[in-house]
Amino acid sequence: MTNLQTIAQEIRACTLCPLAKSRTNAVPGEGPASARLMLVGEAPGREEDAQGRPFVGHAGKMLNQGLLDAKIERNEVFITSIVKCRPPNNRVPTKNEIESCVTAHLHRQIQALNPEIICLLGGTAAKALLGEERLATVRGRLIEKDHRYFITYHPAAARRNPAWRKVFQADLKALRKLVADRV
Ligand code: URA
Repeated sequence: MTNLQTIAQEIRACTLCPLAKSRTNAVPGEGPASARLMLVGEAPGREEDAQGRPFVGHAGKMLNQGLLDAKIERNEVFITSIVKCRPPNNRVPTKNEIESCVTAHLHRQIQALNPEIICLLGGTAAKALLGEERLATVRGRLIEKDHRYFITYHPAAARRNPAWRKVFQADLKALRKLVADRV
């Protein structure tokens, strides 16, 4: 069993925060241990909670379309979220939920995968990992910190707003080029 699989098992059994009580399934994330790109969303929604898989609802369709247009293979990427359990009524996860989940799980997933680029999808992910709240001005380019990051809009936001959708699609194309250039 790989390290990532061990962490996934721990996530499925996790009771560290109150979201454990209301979830149907925890959603550890999915993708090969060889993935060079990691995508990090906010939290599972209804469909993800039902299936235990990331980005399989409406936001997932938008993400799949963006990946397809950018010629990024979904099954070559590791996809996860800041918190692994669905918040009731899809509310934004609390600071405590984020802190406990990132410390216990996401940081270890990042360490185990060691991706070349971590793409943060939307404001919650950008704030949680980089303390970054200026999404519109920092998105679309490489950010070098403890890892290499790239920020773009969340696919659910891109789905709602046609202007953001265009930017989201262009950002994924730029992201693909960044990953390809690092061969
Ligand atoms: N939004 C997320 O951030 N993650 C999912 O898995 C689904 C929707």
